[in-house]
Amino acid sequence: MSAPLLAIRDLRVAYGKVEAVRGVSLTVEAGRVVTVLGANGAGKTTLLNALMGVLPATGGIRFDGRDLARLPVEERVDLGLSLIPERRELFGSMSVEDNLRLGAFRFRGRNRGDLDAMFALFPRLKERRRQLAGTLSGGERQMLAMARALMGRPRLLMLDEPSLGLAPLIVAEVMRTVARLRDEGVAVLLVEQNARAALAVADHGFVLDGGAVVLEGPSAALQADKRVIETYLGVLAADAQG
Ligand code: ATP
Repeated sequence: MSAPLLAIRDLRVAYGKVEAVRGVSLTVEAGRVVTVLGANGAGKTTLLNALMGVLPATGGIRFDGRDLARLPVEERVDLGLSLIPERRELFGSMSVEDNLRLGAFRFRGRNRGDLDAMFALFPRLKERRRQLAGTLSGGERQMLAMARALMGRPRLLMLDEPSLGLAPLIVAEVMRTVARLRDEGVAVLLVEQNARAALAVADHGFVLDGGAVVLEGPSAALQADKRVIETYLGVLAADAQG
């Protein structure tokens, strides 16, 4: 079998004396969707920020066989990592189209074709191309954040709770988009509290608790796991039924 696209070994991240990520090891194969599940404060966002190079960490991070540990954020972006933070961070007073163009900033205008490809993937964004990003609905903003990240042609897209604040139908649409990215060969690391939605699309999952991986396996196995059902799926099922 070929080496994984991303391989993390014994990753540790601390805020002062408090260790938020405590020896996490996980891998993402090329063209796969891998989810990291966990409650508030489990360390999910901290893990993503360390992978992107925004937070210092110890342990091994290899991407496509290269050691990322000492590389600054820009070089990780150049190698093909992309992170969409929970807050999505769009430019609200700029148009949808200009937000997308900014996503291709590192190509300095050399990839105009990608804009059409994005509009084909996200027809709603095409309809709204001249609209200001700040006037979009929550679901449209998440779509725009994904499309903007894709303009940078990432090989691994990391999403921090893309379902947050979205209605169930819109969450399903976001997850369908994640599945389409996989079809196009982009690997996805999907951090979610919404275990039901994430496991429905992911190939493999890891459960993070207190900064450590407590459970991992193929999505189908996690969906059937008693601990996952009780802790993550049961509560969400009750929520969904109102
Ligand atoms: P959420 O779903 O709320 O984003 P999370 O799983 O992403 O949760 P993290 O945000 O990574 O969790 O937080 C992990 C732990 O680190 C928590 O205990 C949190 O209080 C702590 N923490 C996060 N950011 C900081 C910070 N800047 N300084 C100190 N502690 C922090």
